[in-house]
This record gives sequence, structure tokens and C-alpha cells, in this order.
Amino acid sequence: MTSDYNKNLWNSVLAELKKEIPERLFELWFKDTTVHSFSSESMNIQIPNEIIQKRISDTYMQEIKEAVFKCCGDSPKIEFSLESNKDQQTFFDFEGRIAHDIKEPEKPPAPFVNETTQKTLDLNDLYTFENFVAGPSNQLAHASAIAIANKPGKAYNPLFIYGGVGLGKTHLLQAICHELLKKDSKYIIVYLSCEEFINQFISSVEKGEVDSFRYRFRHVDILLIDDVHFLASKERTQEEFFHTFNTLYNAKKQIILSSDSPPSEIPALKERLVSRFKWGLVTQLDIPTFETRGAIVKKKSRLKGIEFSDEVCAYISENIVSNVRELEGAINHLVALAELHNEEIVLDFTKRNLKEVIDVNESTVQIPEILNIIAKHFNVKLSELQSKKRYKSVVVPRQISMYLAKKLTKYSLQEIGGFFGGRDHTTVIHAIDKVKELRTNDKEFHESMVNLEYKVLGNKKT
Ligand code: ADP
Ligand code: MG
Repeated sequence: MTSDYNKNLWNSVLAELKKEIPERLFELWFKDTTVHSFSSESMNIQIPNEIIQKRISDTYMQEIKEAVFKCCGDSPKIEFSLESNKDQQTFFDFEGRIAHDIKEPEKPPAPFVNETTQKTLDLNDLYTFENFVAGPSNQLAHASAIAIANKPGKAYNPLFIYGGVGLGKTHLLQAICHELLKKDSKYIIVYLSCEEFINQFISSVEKGEVDSFRYRFRHVDILLIDDVHFLASKERTQEEFFHTFNTLYNAKKQIILSSDSPPSEIPALKERLVSRFKWGLVTQLDIPTFETRGAIVKKKSRLKGIEFSDEVCAYISENIVSNVRELEGAINHLVALAELHNEEIVLDFTKRNLKEVIDVNESTVQIPEILNIIAKHFNVKLSELQSKKRYKSVVVPRQISMYLAKKLTKYSLQEIGGFFGGRDHTTVIHAIDKVKELRTNDKEFHESMVNLEYKVLGNKKT
């Protein structure tokens, strides 16, 4: 391709990116990028320095791929090279590994691990138990993952961990792998995403190599499959996985699965898989509490070499509520900016710069708002909700308020108890359990809860 062609193409990619990325961020990260080479297989983007390269590859890969696809209809592999290294032609792949001599293998490497080949297990070094912060939102999942790493095949089988995006499923699964590898590298461990499992299955069918596929997945000690909700509607793969599961289960080999929803809510998952997924332990990862978020920010910033102060950690965890990946994005953003401008990450710096990545405070629900909506809905007085009165007409609305406060705000159980006439956290737990029970057993109640939640959240947007 001519350099003019490349230049025009990159300009139209940039124009697409501009639509997706806030202007100031776009200016900051993309201003000085050019395209170095381009073919339908690979696109090499030239970047001024490593900080910017890291930032772009950590955060904007998806956007870039989509923009490139829009502009030329191809999905080339995206690589980076640094301007200063023009002569050396150092390429980085999208995880920041130097890629000049990495060739795509003909076939995906077998996800097989034992003494000699355990390097083929594709793990993130940082996803260990040491780097995982346990708290009320993930306690059971965390404890059972540790139990399994200690006694695979004996504690719970299968272990099924579910939860929303960025709440630590992949981290926990990989922590189990790290721990097992540390203990006894003779274990045959297979860890892969469900998508990869599906792809390998399909490709084995196409190549007439189903036998070797089967052999590979049925001769393992520990099988971990991440994001099994991708099995939704994949009938043939479900069928195949069913047999893999049975073989391993009968041989008392450990199976560990993660998913974005509980087994029964994975769309079009065959009943016999649903029931098998529930045979062992099904455990949920919830949105971490304010305290846990603070501890995560502390730990992650320390891992990046700059431990944030308590007030910075608190500020970030007050303002980023929903998932840990966003917390991490904010940390990376702050660290990169601080390096770029040679500034210290103090509270003022954080306040100034965090605005770009999040809607500070805007999406945070406050308890008084919940109380107002509940009081109005049930026609009770605000003061009654916050009192210690026990008559029935106020007990349920109060329990619902506590439940919503836990679900929709950043407050801890103790803090919520404090809002409701100085009750202790066990009362709040009881209220939450009560509402959960009603939600499961009473369809009408469940629907009215959905509406109330909607009202509280909707109230924020108007
Ligand atoms: P999921 O697979 O559920 O989408 P990940 O496991 O990829 O989420 O987690 C997203 C990011 O958040 C990862 O970098 C992970 O290390 C981090 N993370 C999530 N939960 C925790 C936790 N409790 N302690 C430390 N880091 C966490
Ligand atoms: Mg994941």
C-alpha cells in the first residue's frame, strides 16, 4: 500500500475514533499517531512514546478495531511501534509484548499444561490470590476458590462463579491456576475462555479432528472455562461440553466455570447442563462495597508502583461504584497523566483529572432519595421509615429501603443501619435476606421491586 493510502486511511480511522472518544482524551492520546504500515493482515500504528502506547493498548483497542473495520472492511492485527525506534522496527502486540519476532502459530497451541509445557497456559501474572481483595461482595467465591486450589476435585465440583462485568471472575479463575501451578506443577490444567473452547471445537469438527479435541479436554486434572454464558444457543458445543463434563466429573477431576449470570439464566442452555452446573457450588460476585473498592485502589496503585494516599483512594471509590475494571481504568489514567505531566497524584490532581473518565457523582444514588420514593410509594412517613417502630405497615417498606440502599448505593451495612435509626448491620442483613426471599417466592412482589428500582435509578437521570 502507498503511504498516501495509509495516511488517508488512518485519518478516516481517527475521524471515527473522534466520534467515540471525548475530545480532550482524543487529543491527549491520538494526536501524534500515524500509521506505519498496513495490510489486510496487520496494521502498525506509530506512537510517540511508551506511556501513550500503553494507554492506547489498555483502553482503546476495541474502538480502534471497530474504526478500522468501518473504514476498510478488514480486521487486521493491530500492532504498535515507537517513533524513537523507527530504525529498529520494534513492534508491540496489543498486550505490550515486543512482537517483532512473534509469528502466529499455524494452529492455536494446545491448552495443555504439565511440567514441560506449562508456559502455554495463558495467564495474567497479576491475577493471583495475593492481589485479590476479599470483602463482603466476594467472600464466598474467594473462599471457595482457595478451598479448591488446596484440594482440587474434593471441595466443590463444579465451582460456578457468576457476576457482572469486571467483578473479578477471570481474576479468581486464574488465581486458582497460579496457586495450583505453585503447588504441584504435575497437574494438567486447562484454562481457556468459552469462546476459545467453542472455536477449537468447531475447528476440530471442520478438520475431522474431533477425537484429538476430545482427548485433549478429557485428560485433564483441572478444567477452567471462563464466561460459559457464551454457550448460549450453541447447541453442538453444549452437547460436546456435556460429555466432557461427565467424563471429568466421573473421574473426580475439578471443573471450574464462570459466567455473567447464574446457570438457570443463561439463555437457551440445555436443562441437563443447567442442573450439572448446580451440582457443586454456585456463588456470586457482587459489586464491591465502598471499603473494598478503596482497598482495591490501594492495592492496584501499589502494584503500579505508586501507592495512592487514603484520601485519593476514598475519592476514587466514592465516585466509581459499579465495577473494578473501571476503578483500574481510572488508576491507569491517573498514573499515565501524572507521568506525562510529571505531577504528583494528590487529591486535587485526582479531582481535576478523574472527571474525564467518569461522571463524577452523577450516577450515585443517595439514601434519602430512596427513602423519599419508598415513603411516597407506601404512603408512610419518612420519620417512620427511620424510626424503630415495628408495626407491619412500616416494617416491609423499611426493609425494602435497606435492600435498595445496599443494592444501589456505596454505603456499607453499618452505614445503612445508621441511617435507619442506628440499627446494627445484622438487622440490615436480615432485611436484605427477607426482601430477597420475597423476590424469589412472590412474582408480584418481584415485579414491584423492579419498578421501584427503576424509579430510584430513573429519578437520577431526570
Ligand atoms: P470479569 O472477568 O468478572 O469481567 P476480571 O477478573 O477481568 O473481571 O476483573 C477486572 C479487573 O478488576 C481485573 O484487573 C482484576 O484484577 C480486577 N479485580 C476485580 N475484582 C478484584 C478484587 N476483588 N481485588 C482485586 N482486583 C480485582
Ligand atoms: Mg472475565
